[in-house]
Amino acid sequence: MKIAVSGCLLGEEIRYSGGHSHDRFVTQSLGKYAQFVSFCPEHLAFGTPRSTIRLVEDENEGYYVQSSDGEVDVTEKLLDTNNLELQKIQNEPIRGIIFKSKSPSCGLGSAMVYRSNGYSKEKDDGLFVKMCKEHFPLLPMEEEGRLNDPWLRENFIMQLFAYDDFENFKASNPTMKTLVSFHQSYKFMLQAKNEMMYRELGQIVGNHEGLPFDEIFRQYEILFKTAIAQKSSIGKNRNVLEHMAGFVKDKVNQVEKEMLHEQIHDYANKIVPLIAPLSRLHMFAKAYNVEYLLDQKFLHPYPKELALRSDIKSGK
Ligand code: SF4
Repeated sequence: MKIAVSGCLLGEEIRYSGGHSHDRFVTQSLGKYAQFVSFCPEHLAFGTPRSTIRLVEDENEGYYVQSSDGEVDVTEKLLDTNNLELQKIQNEPIRGIIFKSKSPSCGLGSAMVYRSNGYSKEKDDGLFVKMCKEHFPLLPMEEEGRLNDPWLRENFIMQLFAYDDFENFKASNPTMKTLVSFHQSYKFMLQAKNEMMYRELGQIVGNHEGLPFDEIFRQYEILFKTAIAQKSSIGKNRNVLEHMAGFVKDKVNQVEKEMLHEQIHDYANKIVPLIAPLSRLHMFAKAYNVEYLLDQKFLHPYPKELALRSDIKSGK
């Protein structure tokens, strides 16, 4: 899997000062499963070290880029290198983008915009982020600052691997039959994200209007990628866990059933992390060969070594 990443997060010494912002989660944890495509529109435009830049409001409710070296407006220069970096990542089969927070180029909603009098006005997307959002509206995107939050991190990694899974599925010459299986395997993950979208996806797969497969697939892709971008919650996960427990209720004994429900209850009350009831469900699914559960992506949405669901704070 390829992921585009702000070069400074990869340890490249390309910040305005000549330093970096190395992020260990990105390089060491995610790096075991992904190859990175680095970008840095500012280094390309101005070299390193360089003067700082900032976003300043313009008359049209937008902003322009001002350099601290006395050159008032460097927007055009930066737009040129933004386009070059965009082309570079467009040429790769990227499954997501991780940006450096608070940067006037890379901040994802965290780039400060200043008034012309020098006072700060509001936070917005950086220049390069705006361009990426326009070109890749459904691509998973996050910034490293927000990835320090275990809940946002778990949601983003789940989205990233589901997006990758969809792209691999798309490349496998899907048919109506395989699309139905794909949809079934995402039942519980989609329900944990957004129940209504899960149902709408079911309507698309049901194809009650008799549409050609290409059109069904096109509609499914847009809604699936939108659904996996939604955030799960403890309440939604609890409903899914109860639903999954229903698949083993006639197979397990009374004590096992009570233990499972106690763990789901403890998860809902933030006493144990999500991995606790899920591991028990996984064990029962394996022990009693409940294939429908074993096929569910919700049980194994990404490599278990990432251990993101072991963190009690990964639920909100
Ligand atoms: S422009 Fe982006 S990639 Fe380059 S140093 Fe700044 S934050 Fe890092």
